[in-house]
Amino acid sequence: MLLSKNKLIIITAPSGAGKTSITHYLLKKYPLLSFSISAATRKPRAGEEDGVQYHFISEAEFKLKIEANAFVEWEMVYEGSYYGTLKTELEKSWEAGKTPVLDIDVKGAIHIQQQFGPNCLSIFIEPPSVDELKKRLESRGSETAESLATRINKANYEMSFSHHFNKTIVNHHLDEACKETEAVIKEFLGW
Ligand code: 5GP
Repeated sequence: MLLSKNKLIIITAPSGAGKTSITHYLLKKYPLLSFSISAATRKPRAGEEDGVQYHFISEAEFKLKIEANAFVEWEMVYEGSYYGTLKTELEKSWEAGKTPVLDIDVKGAIHIQQQFGPNCLSIFIEPPSVDELKKRLESRGSETAESLATRINKANYEMSFSHHFNKTIVNHHLDEACKETEAVIKEFLGW
């Protein structure tokens, strides 16, 4: 893997801050960006498909991939659920002449930054407040009371890492946050 030459972009944030919507906006508009599909052991949500949002695999398969050194980084993001960035996903993107975009958690983002240094642009999407984040997660309707509490606790912790990243964008309004993110990426890629 040409770790020292190829560029990549990380969009990180607490869950519910809007990073997935921002990532979708970017991927739709720029065909030279490609989504890095992570491997994950959680169950697909309604509407999710294997090989689209994630490569949904079993915990046993995930552990085999760890042993085979198939990940650039991996984390148990939530208790019992593993998520990881596959080397093959990044390679596929670079081979196609594209720049991979990673939608990953804060710890994974820090690990990737350490490996890629200046070839990595890391953007932290910050929710206007934890209260607002809670409202957004509740309206998504995909969380139980327990998983909501877990995500809020994790969000508080993750917010304390915002200064580790190249750029922080506060998502007051999704449209504006998309435009701001786009501008930072275009500058990084020299577009
Ligand atoms: P969800 O279960 O809501 O799809 O994602 C949970 C969290 O895992 C999100 O913050 C998402 O960005 C993060 N995530 C997704 N893929 C990866 C990955 O490959 N590595 C890491 N470290 N986090 C990931």
